[in-house]
Amino acid sequence: MTKNELLSLVVPVYYEEECVLEFIAQTTAVLHEMDVRYEIVFIDDGSTDQTVNLIKGKIIENPNIKLIEFSYNHGKQAAVSAGIRYAKGDYLIYMDPDLQDPPHEIPRFVEEIEKGYDLVFGVRKEKKDSFINKLYSKVFWGTLEKFTGLNLPRGLAVMRIFNRKFADIFNQYPESNRFIEGIFMHIGLKQTNIEVEQQERFAGKTKFNFKKKMQLAVNAIIDYSNLPLKITMRVGIFITLLGLLSLLSIFIVKFFFIDFQTGWASLASIMIFGFGLQTFFLGIVARYIGSIYKEVKRRPHYSIKEFNNFEE
Ligand code: UDP
Ligand code: MG
Repeated sequence: MTKNELLSLVVPVYYEEECVLEFIAQTTAVLHEMDVRYEIVFIDDGSTDQTVNLIKGKIIENPNIKLIEFSYNHGKQAAVSAGIRYAKGDYLIYMDPDLQDPPHEIPRFVEEIEKGYDLVFGVRKEKKDSFINKLYSKVFWGTLEKFTGLNLPRGLAVMRIFNRKFADIFNQYPESNRFIEGIFMHIGLKQTNIEVEQQERFAGKTKFNFKKKMQLAVNAIIDYSNLPLKITMRVGIFITLLGLLSLLSIFIVKFFFIDFQTGWASLASIMIFGFGLQTFFLGIVARYIGSIYKEVKRRPHYSIKEFNNFEE
């Protein structure tokens, strides 16, 4: 990076009072060492703990720190999108404040992107996490890849660096249902990965429990694939054929005057099965309609309560 170029860190925070000061201490130490022009853009996603006050305190000491406050919780995807929109850097690094991605890797990311890439992803050497969490991740990413057809690098870390060109394209994605990883992959351009050491969360708890992760997966699938709709249709065709076959066989059996007993219990089970399947499929279609509904309203992706230390 040249002397005039600016490096932006984009950092979403949500109830991170235990991590944020340590994060600022570690990143600013690395950035000062690197001797670059930088800004750290925090996006508070509606925390009501000390997170915002702690950051505001730091802004007084360090004018390179900036803060966007959302009026309430809009979700990490919206927070990151806002950060990328308002960061001014020639290069942007997106990372979480929980120190799972270590700040001392920042120089390596910068070095790598200067080789002429548009995006450099971090991939985990080994995820330091519980067995259950690792299993979640495996199922989550595996399912996503199957359904979306996106080619997602294994063990994707949060930390990544991209250039202005990449950020400008990212900002053009208009969708309300924002699945960040999907958008990153969809942009394409010249990408590479580097391996990074993963650390334990510095303090506090993860905000993504199993339910939230599943919701994210369903949203991502609905946004990136119409495979569920195709499956619905295929199963429909299969069942119709099965019904026809069954009808035909009854006619044939009757034709040969074989007396055969049919019972209402089996009939009821078949009907219940059929109704269940229909309702389920209707549900899938409804999810897509819901998604379309959200999209056509074209609502802003977030509402900002306050900009701190941004000159407009
Ligand atoms: N986060 C956010 N809004 C939310 C939930 C989380 O901005 O509604 C932020 C959170 O502060 C953290 C990041 O998203 O910076 C990732 O969250 P976390 O570390 O809890 O997830 P994990 O690393 O366990 O997947
Ligand atoms: Mg984390």
